[in-house]
Amino acid sequence: ARRFLDSLGPLARRAQGDARRPARQADGSRLLIPALLPNYARVDVAFERGEGAYLTATDGRRYLDFAAGIAVDALGHAHPHLVETLTRQAGRLWHVSNLFRIPEQERYAERLVAATFADSVFFCNSGAEAVEAALKMARRYHFVNGRPERNRIITAEGAFHGRTFAALAAANNPKYLEGYAPALEGFDQVSFGNLNELRAAIGPETAAILVEPVQGEGGVRSADADFLRGIRAAADEFDLLVILDEVQSGFGRTGRLFAHEWAGIAPDILAAAKGIAGGFPCGAVLAVEKAAAALTPGSHGSTFGGNPLAMAVAGAVLDVMLADGFLAGVERIGGRMRAELEALAARYPTIIAEVRGFGLLLGLRLSETHRNTDFAGKAREFGLLLAPAAENVVRVVPPLIIGEAEVEDGIHILDRACRALA
Ligand code: PLP
Repeated sequence: ARRFLDSLGPLARRAQGDARRPARQADGSRLLIPALLPNYARVDVAFERGEGAYLTATDGRRYLDFAAGIAVDALGHAHPHLVETLTRQAGRLWHVSNLFRIPEQERYAERLVAATFADSVFFCNSGAEAVEAALKMARRYHFVNGRPERNRIITAEGAFHGRTFAALAAANNPKYLEGYAPALEGFDQVSFGNLNELRAAIGPETAAILVEPVQGEGGVRSADADFLRGIRAAADEFDLLVILDEVQSGFGRTGRLFAHEWAGIAPDILAAAKGIAGGFPCGAVLAVEKAAAALTPGSHGSTFGGNPLAMAVAGAVLDVMLADGFLAGVERIGGRMRAELEALAARYPTIIAEVRGFGLLLGLRLSETHRNTDFAGKAREFGLLLAPAAENVVRVVPPLIIGEAEVEDGIHILDRACRALA
């Protein structure tokens, strides 16, 4: 604990709260670890309130939130329809468990099925859990079809699927696997975007292919449509399942309900979370009938998954997202933002190497001379929140409800940050 604390800068050390507040153990020796387990390198800012795309910190400072809780607060903060729905449901019923029927869950599942490729939906509480359930479903699909040897999943380099053992093994990122050996067996990784390599990796034990249409944590790397179509074709040829991880790219983030719609393909299984309930913890696995049917009663479950409170809020998010013009608006404002970011990159070519992404899942890859965390720190100094990602990228992932004024405000701050760094 001392080495960890010593490794932190003074700001981050302060961010660990009373990290050095001495606590006494029974033998009188001091504890150095803070009461809150220090597994995050937190920025020393705390917020007390939010409205739309803006947050107010405990010191009264106002920030434009282009991090949106890492692409979670899809409708911004304190959206009136979500507040009203959550408040109403909170006074009625929160949780009953999946021992019983949950009408809110049935209704919401039907709406998702009507709006997507899916025939059936399973609910959980987070992205990693959705990925976990998707992987279990894929293995079990082959098991119930008499081919239990088909249990390996092809995944893509640069992926991020969450922090459970299966999600870590799937992504195979050494940074996140360190200290957690042995990794779960059954994953074969190929380059993101290389169809030849992917086809070569298919063998008699392959069950499914798992990819993100846009690698968010990986640095806002978009799969091109041909890669996704090629995956679909290969899966059909060899009777494999296509699993899309749309935890970050889903629920309107790219200007469609799901990013795969842009490629004109559909997966067999899809993992969703993040924006699904606008900040209320919720995850979902959407699946076509043949895959979904593999999860028979007792084969998988979650205590909290799909409880009435989560379902009410998720339903309210869907009300807004499926309203006429909402997704088209995300596409339009995303296009506008991207154009402004391109112009910014042209003004500061020594700082911004590349603009990535589409819709409101955007990123700036910075030149080698500027670290993404420093850049995010500078933007924050001027009142704008960004989310760092791999490959020295800062993500620009605002709430989907932003308009021209927020784009202008954000670009203005980014310009100031660039000028200060130049
Ligand atoms: N999958 C993707 C594509 C993600 O971006 C994330 C989180 O960033 C996850 C899975 C894991 O989600 P969670 O943190 O809710 O478990």
